[in-house]
Amino acid sequence: MAKGIPGGAVAGIAISGLSKSFRVGRGTVEALGSVDLSTGAGTFLSLLGPSGCGKSTVLRILAGLETPTSGTATINGQTPEQMRSGHQLGIAFQDSALLPWRSVESNIRLPLQVAGLPAAPDRIAELIALVGLEGFEKAKPAQLSGGMRQRVSIARALVVQPSVLLLDEPFGALDDMTRQRLNLELLRIWTEKPATTLMVTHGISEAVFLSDVVAVMSPRPGRVVELVEIDLPRPRTPELMRTPEFHKYCDYLSELLFGRGVAA
Ligand code: ADP
Ligand code: MG
Repeated sequence: MAKGIPGGAVAGIAISGLSKSFRVGRGTVEALGSVDLSTGAGTFLSLLGPSGCGKSTVLRILAGLETPTSGTATINGQTPEQMRSGHQLGIAFQDSALLPWRSVESNIRLPLQVAGLPAAPDRIAELIALVGLEGFEKAKPAQLSGGMRQRVSIARALVVQPSVLLLDEPFGALDDMTRQRLNLELLRIWTEKPATTLMVTHGISEAVFLSDVVAVMSPRPGRVVELVEIDLPRPRTPELMRTPEFHKYCDYLSELLFGRGVAA
């Protein structure tokens, strides 16, 4: 799956022997055991597992926000720090983390300003159209619904034209209907602007619907139980969710998570 790129480096995400312990008071919490994981460039990978199994820790290490206790994590052969300084990462979290005093367009522009990069004239308008927020350019976050705020945060993640998207339960705080709609949107956006994507989720059906590969994690310490390739055709449509093939994957993942005493 992983393709070679010049220089012998591996394209895509490559995680090897990754562990992370946190010091808590006098003790330590072993958040990640030894995680091994790799995907090719352009792959949509989901980390699926119960709360506390270390999904966000993996993502935060890839984002360069946390350093591993041991092991390595590279993207396209580069360290997270190199990816960050090359502005190749787009990140969105469950909490949209928008600046309340800035408008929609000005929130989306922020990563470019921080990086000291110019914004091409149509870039912001194009992203606003991509996430379906035309007409709300000047609105402040408080004037938007939760779903709209998450759209802004996806647009903001895309503004640097990242080669890698890191999404930590981007729609996790939203109601089911909004969440389903935004998953469809995310799929469309990902198809229009393909990027190597790692999404953290605890939703089984959204993991199956969106992903090429699902890494199932178990807790204490966090590790990858199994990598499940989702061999369903693209483009994926809502009708797919009503097919036996789709349900077979959901049942299988559910058994991995709950059937063998793995769940929290
Ligand atoms: P998930 O995203 O799967 O819910 P996390 O990666 O957030 O899990 O956390 C994994 C484990 O590491 C949990 O037990 C959590 O309490 C612990 N943990 C995460 N971040 C920290 C931290 N900064 N300090 C101490 N413990 C942490
Ligand atoms: Mg988390």
